[in-house]
Amino acid sequence: MKEYYQIAIDGPSGAGKSTVAKAVAGRLGAEYIDTGAMYRAVGYKMAANGIGMGDAEGLEAMLADTEIDFAHGKVMLDGIDISGGIRTEAISKMASDCSAIPAVREKLVALQRAMGDKKNVVMDGRDIGSNVFPDARFKFYLTASPEERARRRYLEMKEGGADVGYGQVLADIEARDFNDSSRELNPLAVSEDAVVIDSTDMSAAEVADRIIMIVGKGG
Ligand code: C5P
Repeated sequence: MKEYYQIAIDGPSGAGKSTVAKAVAGRLGAEYIDTGAMYRAVGYKMAANGIGMGDAEGLEAMLADTEIDFAHGKVMLDGIDISGGIRTEAISKMASDCSAIPAVREKLVALQRAMGDKKNVVMDGRDIGSNVFPDARFKFYLTASPEERARRRYLEMKEGGADVGYGQVLADIEARDFNDSSRELNPLAVSEDAVVIDSTDMSAAEVADRIIMIVGKGG
């Protein structure tokens, strides 16, 4: 059986993981897998079907009948491209909340492992190096100060025409950091063997260059 490599890029919201992971995957000819989009897809479907976080039975039935995949960089939920509808603050919160539910993590982690076992992947998320692929050849932890992450998110939202204040964006980021790092199951944490990159004063291109350089040296 052919052995594939996995490059794990973990870190908090707004650290620039997806921009960097996409660039690295493009340059290496590997597949980019956005695991956050998978949790967003579950949150999206729960909201669409009116399934509450406490509805274990409804959720179990929904998960048994849910397919999530990527096609040409788009996240497909049950065969439909939902990429355009999962970046709202409401879905961010749903994703963060549902990601603490064991049945959700079990399903998505199994899917992620299956994806990474059949091709070379650059996978970004919170628990890729610590849980999904603890033996990944390359592990990075990308972070930046909460203020800088909020500033980037705020500018992005403004550009998209959203009516938001910086203070609210910062509060949302801090709440999500707390949610993601304090949950019991596979919390956001720095793996011992991850290379930590603080991007507060770096551009996404500079971060991607550093990762490519480390990968090129073999670790
Ligand atoms: O990265 P993104 O902000 O799109 O992720 C949405 C949410 O999904 C995160 O706030 C986190 O709670 C959850 N997530 C996770 N494990 C991952 C990726 C995302 O719990 N590997």
